[in-house]
Amino acid sequence: MNIHEYQAKAVLREFGAPVSRGKAVFSAAEAETAAKELGGPLWVVKSQIHAGGRGKGKFKEASAGEKGGVRLAKSVDEVKTFVEQMLGATLVTVQTGPVGKQVNRLYIEDGSDIEREFYLSALVDRGTGQVAFVVSTEGGMDIEEVAHRTPEKIVTFSVDPATGVMPHHGRRVAKALGLNGDLAKQAEGLVSKLYAAFVAKDMSMLEINPLIVTRDGQLKCLDAKVSFDSNALYRHPDVVALRDLTEEDEKEIEASKHDLAYIALDGTIGCMVNGAGLAMATMDIIKLYGEEPANFLDVGGGASKEKVTAAFKIITADPNVKGILVNIFGGIMRCDVIAEGVLAAVREVGLTVPLVVRLEGTNVELGKKIINESGLNVISANDLDDAAQKIVKAVREVA
Ligand code: GDP
Ligand code: MG
Repeated sequence: MNIHEYQAKAVLREFGAPVSRGKAVFSAAEAETAAKELGGPLWVVKSQIHAGGRGKGKFKEASAGEKGGVRLAKSVDEVKTFVEQMLGATLVTVQTGPVGKQVNRLYIEDGSDIEREFYLSALVDRGTGQVAFVVSTEGGMDIEEVAHRTPEKIVTFSVDPATGVMPHHGRRVAKALGLNGDLAKQAEGLVSKLYAAFVAKDMSMLEINPLIVTRDGQLKCLDAKVSFDSNALYRHPDVVALRDLTEEDEKEIEASKHDLAYIALDGTIGCMVNGAGLAMATMDIIKLYGEEPANFLDVGGGASKEKVTAAFKIITADPNVKGILVNIFGGIMRCDVIAEGVLAAVREVGLTVPLVVRLEGTNVELGKKIINESGLNVISANDLDDAAQKIVKAVREVA
């Protein structure tokens, strides 16, 4: 689960990490009050969307002005003007995709005088089973690009959970960033605070880009992006309360209610599969035959009729879906039961696009027979390859 920058900064503040003073606003009037309270002389007006690259982003509407999604203002009036321009407008960044994201809230922050910009992040390293830190002097830039062009400028290390963060971790960060004296001390303090926040809140990713040194010698988190481990949300009601459903895909929200692992994608073939590995293989083979999957969907081990129906509704609600491929392995669940479930879902939801069903496993012959004799326009497939070819062909015939 992701949260907004201003929410992430509030979490970091709780743990004593240095962030600027600021206030989230939903209207120009609120922005004016907030700007006056903060006092200036420099303010930053920041679009709050769940995507990075806002500073370099562009608004779709001409009325939002030429500047990006993060703007420096030198007066209360300018703050107000920027808020009026950006509120409700659609910001397109490298991370939003071409559709962009509507800006519904803004963060007004006390402006900092920047001397240097760094990069610092923490994430769960599945390889070592530890929290890893990634540090670079190349702040404010896309870290993937830094990793690609100048990998020597990235320092990483991980923290043993048995010892937690140690002074040498902090020194490592200070050294990597070329910080001495008081700034090195600040860096050490920051690393232990960020680690404490990361572990206490069950984060999966924490990215500070940029981490800055101000002209008056203070280390500060100027941007903050945080993701939480969904599996641990049950023990963090305070974090769940920060969820902004308007930032999430409606179909994904619906899927999560039915305990379906669903991720919307850009293609035309809706997939309904059990098991994440099989879902990945199904997406791969669709691509192999030249089409793109419209989603990743894992209905899980106990693919009940209710789950299959819910999954069908979600898939068919997507206007981009031109065909559906059901690929289910009946292990614990028998294929005849799955076939009945699929047919019941088709009868309930209706079918306006071609549907290919590939079943394998226990009672597979009976399952196929049920599909073939259903009288419904469902195409039965023999194996994964056959299924992929059939759905790709069917989708192209429709197009
Ligand atoms: P992002 O573009 O979504 O990553 O948003 P950031 O919060 O990282 O802001 C983008 C850029 O705006 C930063 O890299 C800074 O260069 C600039 N910026 C943000 N806050 C301030 C500030 O307080 N003072 C100054 N001078 N620049 C800022
Ligand atoms: Mg940033």
